[in-house]
Amino acid sequence: MSEFGLEDLPVRDDLRGRTPYGAPQLDVPVALNTNENPYAPSPRLAEALARAVADVAIGLNRYPDRDATRLRAALAGYLGHGLGADQVWAANGSNEVLQQILQVFGGPGRTAMGFEPSYSMHPIITGVTNTGWTALPRAHDFAVDAEAAVAAITANRPDIVFLTSPNNPTGTALPLEVIEAVAHAAPGVVVVDEAYAEFRREGTPSALSLLPAHPRLIVSRTMSKAFAMAGARLGYLAAHPAVVDALQLVRLPYHLSAVSQAVAGTALEFADELLGAVKQLREERDDLVEWLRGHGFTIADSDANFVLFGEFDDRRAVWQGLLDRGVLIRETGPPQWLRVTVGTPEEMSAFREALLDVTGGRRR
Ligand SMILES: *Cc1c(COP(=O)(O)O)cnc(C)c1O
Repeated sequence: MSEFGLEDLPVRDDLRGRTPYGAPQLDVPVALNTNENPYAPSPRLAEALARAVADVAIGLNRYPDRDATRLRAALAGYLGHGLGADQVWAANGSNEVLQQILQVFGGPGRTAMGFEPSYSMHPIITGVTNTGWTALPRAHDFAVDAEAAVAAITANRPDIVFLTSPNNPTGTALPLEVIEAVAHAAPGVVVVDEAYAEFRREGTPSALSLLPAHPRLIVSRTMSKAFAMAGARLGYLAAHPAVVDALQLVRLPYHLSAVSQAVAGTALEFADELLGAVKQLREERDDLVEWLRGHGFTIADSDANFVLFGEFDDRRAVWQGLLDRGVLIRETGPPQWLRVTVGTPEEMSAFREALLDVTGGRRR
C-alpha cells in the first residue's frame, strides 16, 4: 500500500494539482470561521424535526418524491414575489444547485465569470465541471463596477456570470442596477448567489424582484445560514420555469432524500422563529462593525452574518494568536484582511477580548 498515491491514479488531467475545498474543521471553544448560525434548533423545532423524520422513516423502502414538489411549493411560498413551485429547485446544499447549473450551462469550451474576492466554491465548481474561469477584480470598496462588468462581459461573452450578494467574504450587497446591467449584457445565465440574503440590512434589495424581467437570471439561496440548517444540506434556487426544466437534465434521480425533504419542510414551518434569531445576529453584526471601527480596524460594510476586517501586515499571526486563545476565524479574502462570523454575544466578547490581546488593544 505504501508509495501509492493520488498522483499514481488516472485522475483527469484538468484535476491534477488541484486542492479540495478545505475550511479547517478544528475543535475549538469559539468557532467563527464558516459563517454558521450559532443558534442550534430550539427544543420545539428539534422535536418537530424528529417527528417529521419518524413519519418518513416508515416509507424509506420507497424512493422519495423525485421532484420534491411539496418542499418546492413551501420554498416558493417562503420567498414570496409571486413565485410558484415550478420556479424553484432544491438540492443538497446550494453548492449542489450551483454544480447542477454548471453542468447544464458550463462544460468544456465554455466559461464562467466572477468578481473577486468572492466565494471560493464558484471557481472550484467551475473547474471541476471543466468550465473556464475568468476573474475580474472588485473595486477598492469591494463593489462591482457596472460599467467595467458590462465591458468585460461584452468582451469575454461568458456562458455563466456569478454575482454574490451579499458577497462572501466581504459582506458587500449589490445594488439592483448593477445586477440589471449585468443581466442585460450577459449572453448566458447570471447566477446571483444570495446565501446571506436574510442578513441584509433594511432597504437592501434582493435580486428576486428582477426575475420576471430576466428569464436567464438565477437566484440561489440556502438553508445553511439564516435557517441554521448547515448540517441538513438544503440549498435552492428561483428562476424561470425553463431553467428548472433544464436542471432536470443533470440532476441525479432521487437526489434529495425523503429525510432531507421532510427536515427542510419542517424547518420552513419554523421560519418566524428562525428569522427572529437572524434579527438578533444582524444587531450583533452592526455592534461588531461599530466596535471594530471604534478600535481602529478597517472594516467592509456587511449585509451578511460575518465581517471582513483588517488591515494587518501579518494576518496569519493575528489568526494564529486568536486560535491560541480558542477563537477560530477565517484567513480569507485580500491578503491583509480576516473574516469573522457573527456568533452569540458570549462568543463575540471572547473574540473581542482575544483580538485586543493579540493586537495590543489596537487603536491608532
Ligand atoms: C455558505 C455559502 C453557500 C452555502 O452553501 P451550502 O452548500 O448551501 O451550505 C453558498 N454560497 C455562498 C456564497 C456561501 O458563503
